[in-house]
Amino acid sequence: MQPMTDQFCEPVIDLLCELIRRRSVTPEDAGCQGLMSERLERLGFTCETMQFNDVTNLWARRGDVSPVLCFAGHTDVVPPGDEQEWSTDPFEPTLRDGLLYGRGSADMKSGLAAMIVALEDFLSEHPDHDGSIALLITSDEEGRARDGTLKVIHALSERDEHIDWCVLGEPSSQDNLGDIVRVGRRGSLSGMLTVRGVQGHVAYPQLADNPIRRFAPVLAELHEIVWDDGNEFFPPTSFQVVDVQAGIGAPNVTPAELSARFNFRYSTEWTHESLQEKVHSVFDAHDIDYELKWHLSGKPFLTQPGKLINAVHEAVTEHTGTAPELSTGGGTSDGRFISPAGVDVVELGPVNASIHKIDEHVKVEDVITLTSMYKRIMELMLLQIG
Ligand SMILES: [Zn+2]
Repeated sequence: MQPMTDQFCEPVIDLLCELIRRRSVTPEDAGCQGLMSERLERLGFTCETMQFNDVTNLWARRGDVSPVLCFAGHTDVVPPGDEQEWSTDPFEPTLRDGLLYGRGSADMKSGLAAMIVALEDFLSEHPDHDGSIALLITSDEEGRARDGTLKVIHALSERDEHIDWCVLGEPSSQDNLGDIVRVGRRGSLSGMLTVRGVQGHVAYPQLADNPIRRFAPVLAELHEIVWDDGNEFFPPTSFQVVDVQAGIGAPNVTPAELSARFNFRYSTEWTHESLQEKVHSVFDAHDIDYELKWHLSGKPFLTQPGKLINAVHEAVTEHTGTAPELSTGGGTSDGRFISPAGVDVVELGPVNASIHKIDEHVKVEDVITLTSMYKRIMELMLLQIG
């Protein structure tokens, strides 16, 4: 086990170590964006800090012509959990057997470091490339995600600034770097249910109205439904109940109320409106007194095949010898806020097996290769456009 020095032979690993040392637990940025801005300004970027409440965001841009290729990501990390359980200090990057350990090493400070160093390499060779390059960096991805990317995208559209293509550096890979590239994400819709009945003595059910008995057949029916079979790009829509509560803790009393929570991860075969309508039609076909509140945390999005997907596909294949799988699996990401502005979004980053866990780590070699992939994407997107 060796603590990292600042004199690692690879610039991208040095930068990654500096980022990990900044304790940027969401929504803290802890100076990560300042460090990135310094490097970007030296490259000719105009850096703009967009502060919304306690969230720091960075919008950096070089060039004022279209098209705009934007690299996006977040500096915030999830809390380390019990630091005693870590093999080494989560905020002191440590190298062990070719792996670099530290909170945020995979999610997603290696993506950020790779973007900066790839830009430095690309611009030293091609300072007069076509189009513009931008970076959209937030410190509010792991938290509520209200004052981050969502607000920056809104501010940009208010002043008519448009992004054409976006590469998000989230850890998309599963077993090997570049094996999976995300080209979209499923939507996420939650329902908060209340069923009302009449409390009563368990021995006199005719005098009570048990909300558990009312809900059970509805729940069974919801589980029976095949929502869809997915489509070319999306896995099937899934319905999951995450919580059911009723009962007052006494064995001889039936409850007056039941509450439940469920979630849909849904494909583009549905909209949140059509899903809500369907669920209500199931409830309404039963004799049940219910109230349902909805929360939409992200609509599904999909980037159609085209220049960006081709470039990412080519960059990955060149470096790994294997074509990436184009996937829409996994949880939500800030791509849900960027895509609706008419932006093609692709996510390419390191292996995600250890993200949010104790002893989060990234393969040093992967970070170096990821840097080359990002540089190659810039070459394919921004040279000889016209
Ligand atoms: Zn992330």
